Amino acid sequence: EIGRSRNTDKADRATVEQALDPRTRMVLFRMLNRGVFNDVNGCISTGKEANVYHATKSDGSELAIKVYKTSVLEITVLDMATVVTIPRKMVKTWAEKEQRNLKRYWLYTCFIGRLHAAGIRCPAVILLRLHVLVMEFIGRDGWAAPRLKDAALSLDKLRECYLELIIQMRVLYQKCKLVHGDLSEYNILYFEGHLYIIDVSQSVDLDHPLALNFLREDCDHVSDFFKKHGVAVMTIPELFDFIVDPTISDENVDSYLEEVQLKVIERGEISVEDEIADSVFMKSYIPKSLDAVNNPEADVAKITSGQDTGDMLYQTITGLKDALPKVDEQQIEVNA
Ligand code: ADP
Ligand code: MG
Repeated sequence: EIGRSRNTDKADRATVEQALDPRTRMVLFRMLNRGVFNDVNGCISTGKEANVYHATKSDGSELAIKVYKTSVLEITVLDMATVVTIPRKMVKTWAEKEQRNLKRYWLYTCFIGRLHAAGIRCPAVILLRLHVLVMEFIGRDGWAAPRLKDAALSLDKLRECYLELIIQMRVLYQKCKLVHGDLSEYNILYFEGHLYIIDVSQSVDLDHPLALNFLREDCDHVSDFFKKHGVAVMTIPELFDFIVDPTISDENVDSYLEEVQLKVIERGEISVEDEIADSVFMKSYIPKSLDAVNNPEADVAKITSGQDTGDMLYQTITGLKDALPKVDEQQIEVNA
């Protein structure tokens, strides 16, 4: 059961050891010798891509160890006779896949570094060795903090968490220059009244061709969770705009949020129209860069003439929305 990792008795430990392949055991053994930790206790989570274990140091401090599964590692348990019969091409593919994976784990530590530097709550990476990632443990006394999904928070606390999270999503984008890519109630832990973002395995830099598509998915998942639990949330385009708008600064972010909150409260229940607008937004085309904008002149004309530009997704992303002041009536008269 998630959040209940306290199992330090011998039988459980034996199961943990059995589940590890020889190479993982070697990496953990070396870490143990170097005093990175003194005990690997129970398994906190078993996933498709990785298992997470709880470890302790002799001073009582706690760590989480994420061990990625890679099928390539299994070659170490094959006997030599089998190994020689494996086609060379296959070995090459495996080796390449392993290199790609190792680079991903390395990127993970870089991304966590960026989150930390920007003050986002997340478990700091302590050490990465091959496919074994040692990080800060979020929890206490062997009890892992629950995922947001399992935290059973009051409506008031959920409202607070929603605000905290969307501000963190904005920092992630604006300061860390990252999109999480797998943000949902499954990859957020709730600990001591705050949210901790974990699992940046799917994260991408903003220059990734699909970064904005991933961000839109993240917005959708986050909105869904809070909406489901009764929190009055922004529409998905509103949330997306809040995250990407470069004209919001540290100084005016609070007043921006207050304004949006008022709008959300006034609106009350999300209407059918809003639901439709959300799903249209989820399916619309997002230009990857300004180069990919098809007809900039027509778009600029549309903005300056004060026409409805709700379907122009990139105007907020690029700052165009505020760069071009709308022509007011008086000016038109003078020009005429
Ligand atoms: P996966 O790739 O399996 O999704 P995650 O990084 O999301 O891996 O971790 C899986 C689970 O392990 C999380 O949902 C959480 O319950 C637990 N976990 C991960 N990292 C930590 C940590 N640093 N502290 C406490 N629990 C953690
Ligand atoms: Mg996860």
